[in-house]
Amino acid sequence: MTIFTPTAFRQQFPALADAGVYLDSAATALKPLAVIEATQQFYSLSAGTVHRSQFAAARALTEQYEQARGLVARWLNAADDRQIIWTRGTTEAINLVANSWLAPRLQPGDEIVVSEAEHHANLVPWLMVAQAKGAKVVKWPLGANRLPDIQQLPHLLNSRTRLLAIGQMSNVTGGCPDLAQAIQLAHAVGAKVMVDGAQGVVHCAPDVQAEDIDFYAFSGHKLYGPMGIGVLYGKAELLEAMSPWQGGGKMLTQVDFSGFTPQPVPWRFEAGTPNVAGVIGLSAALRWLSQHNAEKMEMWSQQLASLAEEQLSALPGFRSFRCGSSSLLAFDIAGIHHSDIVTLLAEHGIALRAGQHCAQPLMAALGVSGTLRVSFAPYNNLQDVDALVRAMHSAVDLLSE
Ligand code: PMP
Repeated sequence: MTIFTPTAFRQQFPALADAGVYLDSAATALKPLAVIEATQQFYSLSAGTVHRSQFAAARALTEQYEQARGLVARWLNAADDRQIIWTRGTTEAINLVANSWLAPRLQPGDEIVVSEAEHHANLVPWLMVAQAKGAKVVKWPLGANRLPDIQQLPHLLNSRTRLLAIGQMSNVTGGCPDLAQAIQLAHAVGAKVMVDGAQGVVHCAPDVQAEDIDFYAFSGHKLYGPMGIGVLYGKAELLEAMSPWQGGGKMLTQVDFSGFTPQPVPWRFEAGTPNVAGVIGLSAALRWLSQHNAEKMEMWSQQLASLAEEQLSALPGFRSFRCGSSSLLAFDIAGIHHSDIVTLLAEHGIALRAGQHCAQPLMAALGVSGTLRVSFAPYNNLQDVDALVRAMHSAVDLLSE
């Protein structure tokens, strides 16, 4: 395993040369050379596509593509490679569960419990299905600690609850709810649990078996992999009972004008030519990550966020929405609009995000119209914190005049 030192680690990310001070890794992580090279090699050297052709190059590619599935399965400790479905990302994975698992099982009056902290990707698909079926989406409110209030959960779950939707980690506060307890409570009323791992996976990959997770989704691009590739994990018996959502090439074994016979799991959910480059890039990211000390990387990112929070707290009107020791730091400055600040920060070459972060219900719960958010990754350094703090002082001085 490579010893983690921030300076050496940074050198693996060519985009840092041009990205300025990149503090937006919660939106998408920069890509290390290992991923860039694997993707480039795929486009330079590969011929054909997967699961379609007999020639040697295409067969080799199919093998690589299926081996990558195994790599993800081991990453999540799934019992079987066939429990891993390739999707375009977290959003598509959740929509697949909503349409393929939930919709056919949802009766009028049934309930779906969704935490108030969710990204729109883990709320809107449930609203869409509920609307179509006459079911109800029930809000699981935040508690005082800005995490979904676990004390309230037992009162929201009942025999009509079909599903609990919960994020492993908030993309705003960085808060990680007590998944084990939430899952246990949901299972006690017979509900299944969809865990949105988009934000959490890079900080801590779950053990899906030990944590008894029914469905888990994540996106490759937040895990140092390419955009346009993601994963849905599902319990075998749930996936087996699901019909395909999208129809097309290679998701069936036989078709005529009277109907079709779907492929076994997981291929029945992978209609059309897949994102092979994405799969190869994501597997390169996982291999690369396994050579690094995840604990040290996480500690460094969290330390930078703590330092930034401490130094920014000297600004008049500074208010932090950070949960615990997260590497995400959402904040605002009383009396100054976040979009004015972010415009000035951009002039200083600081890349961060301001707005609602695709989490409007969470913004409402926090009582704000939006926030600034800096998100630290292990390739950030102390100079990045300095640059942020200096630029913030200059922006706040200018805007307070
Ligand atoms: N959930 C959370 C918590 C996220 O942060 C994101 C990405 N911002 C998503 C879901 C959606 O991921 P994607 O856009 O990659 O599908």
